Amino acid sequence: MSKASKPNTAKHFATMAIQSTEPKGDETGSVANSIYPTTTFKRELDGSYNSGYIYTRHDNPNRQLLEEALATLEGGETAFAFASGMAAISTMFQALKAGDHVILPDDAYYSVQAVAKDVFKRWELSHSIVDMTDYEAVQAAIRPETAMLWLESPSNPQLKISDITALSKLAKANGAITVVDNTWCTPVLQKPLNLGADVVMYSTTKYFGGHSDCLGGALVLGEPVSEELAPVLKNIQSLGGAVPAPFDCWLMTRGIKTLYLRLKQQSENATKLAKHLSTHEKVAMVHFPGLPTHPQYDLSMKQMPEGSGAMLSVQLGKSQAETMALIGKLNLFTAATSLGGVESLIEHRKSVEGDDSLTPDDLLRISVGIEHIDDLTADWDQALDKL
Ligand SMILES: *Cc1c(COP(=O)(O)O)cnc(C)c1O
Repeated sequence: MSKASKPNTAKHFATMAIQSTEPKGDETGSVANSIYPTTTFKRELDGSYNSGYIYTRHDNPNRQLLEEALATLEGGETAFAFASGMAAISTMFQALKAGDHVILPDDAYYSVQAVAKDVFKRWELSHSIVDMTDYEAVQAAIRPETAMLWLESPSNPQLKISDITALSKLAKANGAITVVDNTWCTPVLQKPLNLGADVVMYSTTKYFGGHSDCLGGALVLGEPVSEELAPVLKNIQSLGGAVPAPFDCWLMTRGIKTLYLRLKQQSENATKLAKHLSTHEKVAMVHFPGLPTHPQYDLSMKQMPEGSGAMLSVQLGKSQAETMALIGKLNLFTAATSLGGVESLIEHRKSVEGDDSLTPDDLLRISVGIEHIDDLTADWDQALDKL
């Protein structure tokens, strides 16, 4: 845990990303950050710790730098870094108490529902699964014991947009906190705390890391929940021990330096690819919030003014077998799960999610990278020609 202590002299995200990740208190003058792989720190004879660090599960200079940068970039009060996005999600659930009820989106990162069903049900946490684009449905799902509203916007894999402002207000009026999984946007494209949410959750594995080589997660708390919630989360982080290694924190911090450039380019590429595919006769449907045909286009433009993100899904109107075969015809999109790296990936989502998945058979999810857009569209054209 760490406070966003540095004054915000930088006005723009791109500058803040560099400033917030610079070495702090390094006596060598090193411009790049050092890595502190140590697990433990020297204690003075009077029992104190000169540096304030005791043991790396509690805190470590690399983690502290990452957490401070995350809080600063999100405009939050405090941030906690974890070993994965799922560790961050589990920590958020562990902060609730037995008997609490949570409302989850019908379309969301698959393991969020799984962790609610398979792990936290045993802890007497109940949950409802709701279409978050339907305000009345969310309202109807609220119970006296509802403690948390979980949002993911755009959602995975159908790119649905939830009204973060309206739903956060609804939750607050009913004594529940709102947590937004902002993995697909990052603060470059969307700032849920400014829209009224209480907590922002990340799989930093994706865009923060940006190179598909490091797992991580984060929770960033806004005011006023931070005062009450931060000590609870700090305790779970420290006692649970699902903390990122110093080297992983170093990689994430390094990733943050180019996050703005990457996401801007990836979002621009995705917008062009979505437009291109939406006019292609062999593509039945393109799900992308930046297309005017998207059901929540106006809302997405309001919530994500800097870009519509770099994730899209397409439906081909074909069988599952034909849909999966198309992946093999693409040369520049690697068939792999995950997203947010510099390389373009593609995935048949339903067969990854399992039998109870609500994802359509003919849907392919695309994570658009930083390759040249003309190469990417040409690759799709030649693949669709063979369909
Ligand atoms: C990947 C992902 C997660 C899970 O994060 P891990 O780092 O894989 O544990 C959660 N939410 C979203 C939206 C994701 O894309």
